[in-house]
Parts: sequence; structure tokens; C-alpha cells
Amino acid sequence: TDIRELLLSRIRDVADYPEPGVMFKDITPLLADPGAFTALTDELARIAERHAATKIVGLEARGFILGAPVAVRAGLGFIPVRKAGKLPGATLRQSYDLEYGSAEIEVHAEDLSAGDRVLVVDDVLATGGTAEASLQLIRRAGAEVAGVAVLMELAFLGGRARLEPALEGAPLEAL
Ligand code: 5GP
Repeated sequence: TDIRELLLSRIRDVADYPEPGVMFKDITPLLADPGAFTALTDELARIAERHAATKIVGLEARGFILGAPVAVRAGLGFIPVRKAGKLPGATLRQSYDLEYGSAEIEVHAEDLSAGDRVLVVDDVLATGGTAEASLQLIRRAGAEVAGVAVLMELAFLGGRARLEPALEGAPLEAL
């Protein structure tokens, strides 16, 4: 459809970044195009409304860029999930496995509570590890998962299958 083609046309493939053999999907041309950025924001805000979200969680760092305008457009609060060590207050922390080693993300514990329905927003779903850990954080905070919405899903990496158990029936929407 039209929006898919518009968005796809504004994503740049960068070969061998951040390491040899990886084709990186660069969204900066999309961000630089106000028509495309607005269309993406509107589409994600419609998803938030369709799934009755009450909060937007954005995943560092491109999930901040996409998630914040979605929160404003949908009239919802925005909550950053950050890499460990960057949030000043009391946090919940979740570690997850990478291909080599592990990583940790955090959220301010008091930003989420029972009764919240959270839509997680990020640019790219790759292996699904980051999104999976974010869902665990949301549930540990006592909140409900409304869904996960990403601009792009790299289907060949199998992220949807990895994420599925943690979704517990909530939708994963990839534009
Ligand atoms: P995952 O945990 O699903 O393997 O990785 C997802 C995270 O890595 C996301 O936060 C996303 O921003 C980043 N990421 C992985 N591959 C790409 C890519 O090709 N392009 C962009 N823009 N981000 C990527």
C-alpha cells in the first residue's frame, strides 16, 4: 500500500555496518522527510488507539525518536526504556542474551503501574531480544502489554517467533 512504499523508500541499506556481513537499515532519511515522519507517527498513533494503550514505551535510542511523537499525537505518556546505568531513579533491570554475551535494559519503576496498558515502540525488530526484555520489564512493573509496534521487522532473524511467548497474545505490528 501507499504508506508502506513511502516508508520503504526512505530507508537506506548500509552494507557492512556495524560489522562486516550486516546490512544495516538506516532510518535517518525517513526522519529527515517530514511527510514520511508524520505518516509514520500517525500510523503508530492509530495502532496505539486501536489497542487501547495508555502509555508508550520507547526503546533506546531510535524508539525514543519514534515513540515520543506517537505519545504526543495519541495523548499518552512516554516512558523511556534505557540501557543499564543511564536512569537516575530507582529502576527495574532486565538482562537478555545477545549472540555473544548479554545486555541489560532498565525502566524507572515508578513510571509504570497496574492499570497501565503499554505499547512498546521501536524502529527495528531484529532478533527480538530487546523487545522481549522490555515486555518482561513492563509485566514486572505490574502493567499490561497492549502490544509491540515497529517500523520494520527483519523477518529472516526470527524475532517474531522469539517474541511470541512474551507477547501472551498481544499483537506485534510491523509496518
Ligand atoms: P534485537 O534485540 O531485536 O536483536 O535488536 C533490535 C534493536 O537493535 C533495536 O533497538 C534496533 O534499533 C536495533 N537494530 C538492530 N538491527 C538494526 C538495523 O538494521 N537498523 C536499525 N535502525 N536498528 C537496528
